[in-house]
Amino acid sequence: MTTLTALTQERRLVTAIPGPKSLEALQRRSEATSGGLGLAFPVVVERASDAILLDIDGNQIIDLGSGIGVTGVGNSAQRVVDRVIDQVQAFTHTCFTVAPYMGYIEVCEKLNSLTPGTFKKKSILVNSGAEAVENAIKIARNYTKRQAIVVFEHGYHGRTNLTMALTAKNMPYKEGFGPFAPEIYRVPMPYSFHWVGDQATITEDAIEMVTHKIDKEIGAHNVAAILIEPIQGEGGFIVPPKGFLPALSKYSTDNGIIFIADEVQTGFARTGNMFAVENENVVPDMIVTAKGIAGGLPLAGVTARAEIMDSVHVSGLGGTYGGNPIACAAALGAIETIQEENLVARANHIGQILGDSLRAMQAKYPVIGEVRGRGAMQAIELVEPGTKTPNTAAMNAITKYCQSKGVLVLTAGTYSNVVRFLPPIVITDELLKDALSVLDEALASL
Ligand SMILES: *Cc1c(COP(=O)(O)O)cnc(C)c1O
Repeated sequence: MTTLTALTQERRLVTAIPGPKSLEALQRRSEATSGGLGLAFPVVVERASDAILLDIDGNQIIDLGSGIGVTGVGNSAQRVVDRVIDQVQAFTHTCFTVAPYMGYIEVCEKLNSLTPGTFKKKSILVNSGAEAVENAIKIARNYTKRQAIVVFEHGYHGRTNLTMALTAKNMPYKEGFGPFAPEIYRVPMPYSFHWVGDQATITEDAIEMVTHKIDKEIGAHNVAAILIEPIQGEGGFIVPPKGFLPALSKYSTDNGIIFIADEVQTGFARTGNMFAVENENVVPDMIVTAKGIAGGLPLAGVTARAEIMDSVHVSGLGGTYGGNPIACAAALGAIETIQEENLVARANHIGQILGDSLRAMQAKYPVIGEVRGRGAMQAIELVEPGTKTPNTAAMNAITKYCQSKGVLVLTAGTYSNVVRFLPPIVITDELLKDALSVLDEALASL
């Protein structure tokens, strides 16, 4: 077996982006793969370590996206690699509901102890964020014997049929893919930057709107669950105003509704807490995790109060691959990395550098309407200067400029005008500052 040495953590361009080999390979991509797949950064990757991607032309690119918030512990993190190699040699699959293994049990023990709440918790593992959200809804409906699910404007929960229905944005996620699942109710989200009401009373006003809609249009006693991202990801890193999540959680408890936190994007140290709800000491009844959980292998979890998880009949939950042993080994390596490298503190440190730097750019460039987010999950919303009118052209120009200089940034937002930053939490200060200097140039070039 050959062992690869880790890539140096520095940006290095040896060709234009994309280079000739990538261009050729991308031609094959378009011949072989569905045109329905997007492409954010047009190079083909050969290797990656921590926050650096090496493409097949030899360019080293700074990764500020982590494969959409997945490789928080770094790409091919050592503890993940070691455990995966051991596991893949031991056995690759049995199906946990056929013949169980320790990795699945250990990941669930970790989820039960790391998620907020001192009550007894239990978990299941599945393959993707969307599948975890689907299972959360199944369990909540089964437990409450109610059907209605409340979700929020700007929310994103996945691309399967049920999760498309839960997701707010039509294009590109839902267009032409209906009919969608019934009994899903979407309520207003206090998106402060675009809130037309009084900023001073936004939390109270939004809670009043949401609970009024639930009480009058659905009936609280018909609601199985309220599902919310503690910071909305695809919607554009929308941070609910202080007090909103606690009030929603209390309303849920008062009405026998399961409060589900979708921490697929925010979880596992990303926002400077292990889970984003901890920022306001919110304790969800149920928490959905994926992305950052396993350092790049496909894994997701649903964790809830034991009585909720145990209410389901035997064999009501499961799936062929859910909690695959290799993915579980990766998760144990990733969680160990988060704990031993203290990545919660690291995410706060990154948040300081990122936030200070983005706010300094906002002061210089009026195209930045707002800087928001927490920890290693922050974004800029781009506007026509002096207004709140979305500026998609600026978003595209910035991402293209960064791309040409070897910096990968992702976009987001209901109005397609947000550039978001989700660097690996292990990114070095130097690399992050280098990437931010490229962003500054990109803004200056507009
Ligand atoms: C990505 C995401 C999902 C869906 O996860 P997949 O693994 O892509 O199915 C669900 N919820 C949130 C908040 C996400 O960011």
